[in-house]
Amino acid sequence: MTGKRLFGTNGVRGVIGSDMTPTLALSIGLALGSMRKGSIAVGRDTRTSGPALGSALKAGLLATGCDVTDCGILPTPALQYLVQEHFDAGAMITASHNPPEYNGVKVIEPDGTEMGDEETIRLEKRVLDEEVPLVPWNATGRECQAFHLVNEYIDAIVRKFPPGIGEGITVAVDPGCGAACTTTPEILTRLGCRVFTINSQMDGNFPGRLPEPSPEGLIPLGDLVRSTGASLGIAHDGDADRAVFLDEKGRFIEENREFALIAGQVCRDRKGMVVMPVSTSRLVETIARNNGCEVQYTPVGSISVARTMRALEAERIPVAFGGEGNGGLIYPDHQYCRDGAMTAARMIAILAGERRPLSELVAELPEFYLIKEKIRGKDPSAMIRKLDSEFQSESIDRTDGIRINRADSWALVRPSGTEPLVRVIVESTKKETADAFFDEIMQRLGR
Ligand code: MG
Repeated sequence: MTGKRLFGTNGVRGVIGSDMTPTLALSIGLALGSMRKGSIAVGRDTRTSGPALGSALKAGLLATGCDVTDCGILPTPALQYLVQEHFDAGAMITASHNPPEYNGVKVIEPDGTEMGDEETIRLEKRVLDEEVPLVPWNATGRECQAFHLVNEYIDAIVRKFPPGIGEGITVAVDPGCGAACTTTPEILTRLGCRVFTINSQMDGNFPGRLPEPSPEGLIPLGDLVRSTGASLGIAHDGDADRAVFLDEKGRFIEENREFALIAGQVCRDRKGMVVMPVSTSRLVETIARNNGCEVQYTPVGSISVARTMRALEAERIPVAFGGEGNGGLIYPDHQYCRDGAMTAARMIAILAGERRPLSELVAELPEFYLIKEKIRGKDPSAMIRKLDSEFQSESIDRTDGIRINRADSWALVRPSGTEPLVRVIVESTKKETADAFFDEIMQRLGR
């Protein structure tokens, strides 16, 4: 993140009217349009501020000579898919899982991945410091609308699975009034599932629940699962690059367990690296190795995961799967970005193949005990340095902060990018071991 001033791990994001304004969106449009020539796809999620920000962003792109195709409301992975297929770049107006008052912009590269750090720093410099030249009257861009293009994304996912694979499976879907309202229910229906929905009307006020698919927000989905006798419940965040699941009893499946369950199935058929951030549960590594795959850890953030997967493939190292322990999973045979609808469809395929309840498949995964805490401190990097020297005799991974790996446990301590604190994750197969390791870290920090 070094050097980035506006953009965080997932693009630029903020509260509308304070950190995020149409003026800033216009500046981003001008800056992006001066860096990328050609035809740019623009999409948005359902937020109320989307049309204002989108119009401003498009104005900047057009004034710098880019052609703009407005793809309307669609999931972030749908726009990424379309950019990879048809466009020279893309911009998605979304704040993902953040509350309704937030919005932001994610820039998509021609290969469908999110813009990496180096290019983002160039883009930011143009936004903040540089006068962008406008093109003359006879070179301004043209705009067209192509709201139907999202159907190509729907088709691409449906084509990945045998026809009728979902027959006999009832599913309850909660798109959270976000971007997946018209995509995931359609995809699952076309796979043969019987689909019930809740919060499936597009609404930027998010009347049913917040865009983050939390266990508390999904209580009504759990009720729908039980009342319809569904085999599972599926929910997305606001822009549907993530999917989370409830089992047939309506119980939330922790996302690292979801990742491990799907990784186990993917790794049976596809050998290679499983790529994930250092913050991911060791459960995923265990399951990947049990199924004949190796693992590669990356810094935290889906961009790092996607770009590492790309880099491995470029070196001709086969890549099986990737993702984050938050329901954001990446299927390299589909595209190199997190995809919520693809994750939903894959889970249907797993249930169709196993013919056993989801709760049973999850219960077979080994138990891991996870502690997540924030520790405040004036100088987070000094805290990391202190731990680095305190634990130097142990196996340390410095991919992002420090991760101390032990045979029966591990701990990750990394500085927050935005606040004066460090984030600590400790995990073990036993609660007592995790508790003791956490206490040890606190003690070495002098807390
Ligand atoms: Mg998201």
